[in-house]
Amino acid sequence: MEYQVLLYYHYTHIEDPVAFAQKHLADCKEIGLLGRILVAQEGINGTVSGTIEQTEAYAEMMQNDPVFEGIVFKIDSAEHHAFKKMHVRPRPELVNLSLENDINPHEITGDYLSPAEFMEEMKREDTIILDVRNNYEYEVGHFRGAIMPEVDTFRDTPEWVLENKHLFEGKRVLTYCTGGIRCEKFSGWLKREGIGESVGQLHGGVATYAKDEETKGQLWDGQMYVFDERLTVPINQVEHVVVGKDHFDGEPCERCINCANPECNKKIIASEENEQKHLGGCTIECTKHPRNRFIARYELSKEYVDARIAALEKELAQHA
Ligand SMILES: [Zn+2]
Repeated sequence: MEYQVLLYYHYTHIEDPVAFAQKHLADCKEIGLLGRILVAQEGINGTVSGTIEQTEAYAEMMQNDPVFEGIVFKIDSAEHHAFKKMHVRPRPELVNLSLENDINPHEITGDYLSPAEFMEEMKREDTIILDVRNNYEYEVGHFRGAIMPEVDTFRDTPEWVLENKHLFEGKRVLTYCTGGIRCEKFSGWLKREGIGESVGQLHGGVATYAKDEETKGQLWDGQMYVFDERLTVPINQVEHVVVGKDHFDGEPCERCINCANPECNKKIIASEENEQKHLGGCTIECTKHPRNRFIARYELSKEYVDARIAALEKELAQHA
């Protein structure tokens, strides 16, 4: 059986996101989809997986709804579902920039650039490429030469940009994100604040760029982090440069895992060997967490776990 993963967003007006989410969940379950969808008054954002027939039925249902007129689906083929469950969640907004006056991309947004236009502009001297995803996403892969705001969460990005305004002076600012949804708002904000000379955004995000026949994903280094069970996907079809570094030993690595401590759940890059050595924990505290998921998953004995923790603590003491 062949499967597909659909990635999409659409800024539109949904009067009652709570009621809509309820009905939409029922529709998705009826079709047999799995995935995660967010609904807000400003629109919809989702990733869903299913058989070709199921995903086509969903796309058709959406395209026939006037509320979602013009919605674009990025389609990946897959060998199985990319999710275990189906969630549709109402949210106050799709993209949280913590702004007093939020941005409506239908009113102000950066110039839409096709993958080929974006690639050409990236090569120019007078452009600055801004990655508007999360740090852990940047770490496993990004456009060559792109800068990443030094913030913990996306909603702190505007403040960082204002503090570093000088970086953008006289430049054409190019923004990109996974599917394009963040850039619609963020490039609009950059424009409103007068950051840089002008602002362009990668239309359809890296997901579209990767599939483009002209660009073939070029100038992307590493992998792209995705928000489903695949964790990362390849982008550059011409060359493969590894930029990810192992959380534990700094060696080149592209394997993403979540910290085994369910209360931490931090996304880190780690080899299988180092994950095993640290029992899935990103720190010794996380390794020792009573609900460590790595220990549970592999049903490790108490003797084994105690010996491993003792060895890790010994190693830490030596490095201290
Ligand atoms: Zn952790």
